[in-house]
Amino acid sequence: MTVLRLILGDQLNAAHPWYRERDEQVVYVMMEVRSETDYVRHHAQKVLALFAAMRGFAEALQAAGHRVHYLPISATENRHSFAANLAWLAAHYGASRWERQEADEWRVETDLEDAANHLGLPCKVVDSAHFLAKRSELAAEFAERVPRMEHFYREMRRREGILLGADGKPYGGRWNFDSENRARWPGTPPAPAWPWQAHDRFALWVEIQSAGVQTMGEPSAQALPWPLSRREARDGLAHFIDHALPYFGQFQDAMSLASGTLFHSGLSFALNTKMLHPREVIQAAVAAYQVGKAPLESVEGFVRQILGWREFVRGVYWARMPGYAQLNALAAERPLPAWYWSGETQMACLRKAITQSLQTAYAHHIQRLMVTGNFALLAGCQPDEVDAWYLGIYIDAFEWVEMPNTRGMSQYADGGIVGSKPYVAGANYIRKQSDYCQGCRYDAKQRVGQDACPFNTLYWHFLDRHGDRLRHNPRMALPLKHWQHTDADTQQAVRAQAESYLARLDTL
Ligand code: FAD
Ligand code: SF4
Repeated sequence: MTVLRLILGDQLNAAHPWYRERDEQVVYVMMEVRSETDYVRHHAQKVLALFAAMRGFAEALQAAGHRVHYLPISATENRHSFAANLAWLAAHYGASRWERQEADEWRVETDLEDAANHLGLPCKVVDSAHFLAKRSELAAEFAERVPRMEHFYREMRRREGILLGADGKPYGGRWNFDSENRARWPGTPPAPAWPWQAHDRFALWVEIQSAGVQTMGEPSAQALPWPLSRREARDGLAHFIDHALPYFGQFQDAMSLASGTLFHSGLSFALNTKMLHPREVIQAAVAAYQVGKAPLESVEGFVRQILGWREFVRGVYWARMPGYAQLNALAAERPLPAWYWSGETQMACLRKAITQSLQTAYAHHIQRLMVTGNFALLAGCQPDEVDAWYLGIYIDAFEWVEMPNTRGMSQYADGGIVGSKPYVAGANYIRKQSDYCQGCRYDAKQRVGQDACPFNTLYWHFLDRHGDRLRHNPRMALPLKHWQHTDADTQQAVRAQAESYLARLDTL
């Protein structure tokens, strides 16, 4: 009467109701499979950190008295797909049924549904006990019309009772402190380093390579700097609250050559693998405000990301998949420039964001949105390619959160479901928010001429190309009007320069 319970690599939630009791009839199964390492080319640190955290989770379960069958990538009996491994494990244990938690990604959910059909054993699917909003509720609520994130976020604040007075009004009399959260970082206060110890996972790296897994980026196998257990994730949360949260809001949109992390938490890997629960992260931030350790604009800004954006994009994903993965509202068809995989571009901002991503598997939100994403959108790069890049390169990239952020928020390929306008900007935005433009080969003030910043040229060309489509969007009215009032000679020069840049993107 053995029951198999499948635990996926992003389901490392030690507080799940499954583990409240030990049951000799239950065998927990975990597996490192090629179907998961190969659906996209992942960053080396992502594969390493996931496998290392999975192995640690399995050991902790065993130490707590649970039965666990772990299939490492090198095991000869590993069939490298969920369905084939489950069939083998079911036969091995003479299992009478199996259970699993809801998968967060469409690909995995459909794989597991297929596996259930092939196995022919009764299968029970339970909630992953992680998110604050239920997937089925969100899918139903967003099916007809996706609300604006701001509306959704306020409802979530009310529902969870977060940062609200007894009268139900938001603390500070406002729901949104975005206008206070746009400062450039002058170099002080110093940006704190994340606290995770440098793990030596060289042996695991050798195992992954011997299995033939193709990755990108710097493995840092002897000094892997990510939280690999719940204890380390909790330490990271405490460190963030004490050292970075007070400045999180103020410098949320800032970028700097001197720090790729600034006052961001680095908690997305721990959250997305479920080592941390979003509620405990939110509560820790709110508690810091209540004892005067962090200002309201920081705490509200941080809470908004987790209670608002994170839950919201999951709702969009589950309401709109599988069609969402095909959306390409702006008919963008250009390949992503080759330097997205090397960082070898003369554009200082992109060089910094991409090199940092390849070295660390991390870039913060504004680097992803306003540098790499902005450029891909301005250049008209194919959203499938853009999606694959983001899905591979970041430590926290799982499709349910990556795709609405990339295809939706960043590339506007969903035609405005996630964002109310395309996030496009010329060099002025990057110049204001960062020190990237100083010393760049291009001139942030020019839009034509041999030194013209490609962001500027392509920004105006983007408005020219998509003006008809965007004309009815009130948030685009001002820049479109500006372009229409630009004299014909300048317009022509911008067009010519943009065509020349687009024809040789790989050399910029
Ligand atoms: P912090 O700035 O410290 O924010 C705290 C937490 O808020 C994050 O850990 C994350 O859980 C949550 N959060 C913040 N912004 C978002 C958002 N827009 N959507 C969902 N959650 C958010 N986030 C991912 O977790 N995985 C991805 O694959 C991913 N891909 C992205 C692709 C693009 C093009 C863009 C623009 C954003 C993407 N994001 C993604 C959102 C965001 O950039 C990351 O969550 C954040 O940079 C993670 O770093 P952090 O933990 O230091 O975040
Ligand atoms: Fe980037 Fe243009 Fe600034 Fe250079 S000048 S760093 S390309 S925005």
